[in-house]
Amino acid sequence: MMQKVFPIHSAKAPAPAYDGGPLVDTRGRGLRDLRISVTDRCNFRCVYCMPREVFDHDFKFVAHDEVLSFEEIARMARVFAGLGVKKVRLTGGEPLVRRELHRLVALLAQIPGLDLTLTTNGSLLAKQAAALAQAGLKRITVSLDSLDDATFRAVNDADFPVARVIEGIEAAAAAGMAPIKINMVVKRGANEDSILPMARHFKGSGHIVRFIEYMDVGATNGWRMDDVVPSAEVVRTVGEEMPLEPADSNYAGEVAQRWRYKDGSGEIGVISSVTQAFCRTCTRARLSTEGVLYTCLFAAAGYDLRAMLRGGSSDEEISGAIARIWHGRTDRYSEIRTAETAKLRKIEMSYIGG
Ligand code: SAM
Repeated sequence: MMQKVFPIHSAKAPAPAYDGGPLVDTRGRGLRDLRISVTDRCNFRCVYCMPREVFDHDFKFVAHDEVLSFEEIARMARVFAGLGVKKVRLTGGEPLVRRELHRLVALLAQIPGLDLTLTTNGSLLAKQAAALAQAGLKRITVSLDSLDDATFRAVNDADFPVARVIEGIEAAAAAGMAPIKINMVVKRGANEDSILPMARHFKGSGHIVRFIEYMDVGATNGWRMDDVVPSAEVVRTVGEEMPLEPADSNYAGEVAQRWRYKDGSGEIGVISSVTQAFCRTCTRARLSTEGVLYTCLFAAAGYDLRAMLRGGSSDEEISGAIARIWHGRTDRYSEIRTAETAKLRKIEMSYIGG
């Protein structure tokens, strides 16, 4: 039986001094992306993310009054945009289980120059795609770990059928959100047989499958290096049947490496978070469901921005605090990962947002 863990929110780390120069961290990285977790709850229990034996009936999710309201999230997003953030991704937990999420999308879509996107397991997408698109959502990423129904149900551990996720992808495309990115986490022994069927299915569809290395996020998934299927192996597997060539990045710091089908029928991406760490170009901050700021997916502690939000601080004061935190940022977890660090008590991905 695995030990029960609860989200750590020791937001006590002191913010370092910041003199107001260009906002870069100690390694010269700007603040460009913000991932916002709108809920730590999810209707799936993916075995590598929210194992059912840990995230059970007794698990203490964030209480409703602790969760940032849509208005608070929108205010935070405006403050971050003022500091140079260009892209906001809504995530969770499962963002579409948060009631009336389209209302939040509508608020965020009003922020000038912000590229807004969302990551979802797709289970509720068929119902919500039109409302989300109408509210201003232009892009979406759908997680899908297999097209084989039995494998997919085993991974999501909620007995959820593949067909409904495919319906969600189709509804999002029909609502104008194409091309859609389809994220597949590859775990050795769990779904590596699904790599080729997934590539075949979406080849020529205009959508882009991205194969993600299984990571040691959180402390509940019992991660082992042996479970990681390196991206190089994925590219080899797909390329042997459907020849590929490398494609240029769309922009500096893009996490996925792009590979194009030589016959011109589209592309795939690989995200090599374990075998080729991309800390050096990481410009991402994360805001948890209850308004704690984390500067790394593998963090063990964050900064309590909600206390400022609800304590009467002005936007300028909050902005100054974020700038100081970013200025002092040193994170580079994936570059220093070892079997030992993998056992550290890190924040769960369902809480911090994927
Ligand atoms: N519920 C939404 C979804 O399924 O996309 C958003 C949150 S989920 C935590 C975001 C992404 O993180 C999903 O694609 C999921 O597969 C991925 N993920 C979760 N645990 C992971 C791990 N240990 N390694 C790699 N990716 C992981």
